[in-house]
Amino acid sequence: MFKSGGLFINGVRIALDDASSELCFVSHAHSDHTEAFAKGKKILASEETFLLMGAQPSSASLPEGVSLANAGHMLGARQLVAQTEQGTFVYTGDFSLHSSFTTPGAEIIPCDVLMIDSTYCLPTYRFPKREEVIRQMRLFVQKEGTANIVFGAYVRGKAQELVKFLNEECGLAPIVSPAAARFCALYEKCGVKLDYLAAGTPEAEEEMRHPFVAIMPSRMVNFEFGAALAEAFGRETKTALATGWAAVLKFPVDAAFPFSDHADFHDTMRYIYESGAKKVICASSSQSQAAECLRAIGIDAVAKEETRPAQMTLMQC
Ligand SMILES: [Zn+2]
Repeated sequence: MFKSGGLFINGVRIALDDASSELCFVSHAHSDHTEAFAKGKKILASEETFLLMGAQPSSASLPEGVSLANAGHMLGARQLVAQTEQGTFVYTGDFSLHSSFTTPGAEIIPCDVLMIDSTYCLPTYRFPKREEVIRQMRLFVQKEGTANIVFGAYVRGKAQELVKFLNEECGLAPIVSPAAARFCALYEKCGVKLDYLAAGTPEAEEEMRHPFVAIMPSRMVNFEFGAALAEAFGRETKTALATGWAAVLKFPVDAAFPFSDHADFHDTMRYIYESGAKKVICASSSQSQAAECLRAIGIDAVAKEETRPAQMTLMQC
């Protein structure tokens, strides 16, 4: 079923969000999952992911017994479901159970072995209720109505969520960075209506004559950037970030909101219990800690990096 970081089904090995096989599953279009595109592999992914990657849909069809299911997280994100002789295997990739502004939430798939994204799979990682986070963001935007507001966000996924939030919750069309604007246009091709102005266009220049709201790459947005903009426009400028890490970390901005496109600890546990999985494989940068945490509460869990051949008996189920 699952060996050394890949899935074996009917004699075929499928790499999961890496480029270690000829056939690779790419769960979604965030750059830490898309190595297989750069390496020219045969790819299994959603139509939206191909489009967001600027690639032609693959001719590779899903192997028998393999299907894809919604993962939430960002437009086009999918889970992989495999019916094997040893039972059902599910790989979630990055996922969220809640529906977002641009995509429906993940389905919880009943399974025997679950390989789950464990980015926030520690008890300290709990996000406030999404509706409350959205309310706080809306109040922030309304309160700072006479200042420029600059949100920092990843250009793929989070920026489009923020555009939709500003459109629907605040009645505003933000100015977005050129990189984010390219992905906004691709979202629109996929049928997600977004109202925004691309930085550098005459329309955006006109908008900047008055207090404006902008979305820029998160790495740029901090107090220094806000001060530089305030000076350039002769107008107060507030900076903000929207990231799950705001639940546990401090950032050098005026406001940081735990507006996440991931499952937190509670939702990760919900998936594990409701799926009925007998074995759990943790995948993400903190996979060892996550697996240890799950074992401490009686769940048969292992980190993905621990699934080397010597440990393979663990995975025979
Ligand atoms: Zn992601």
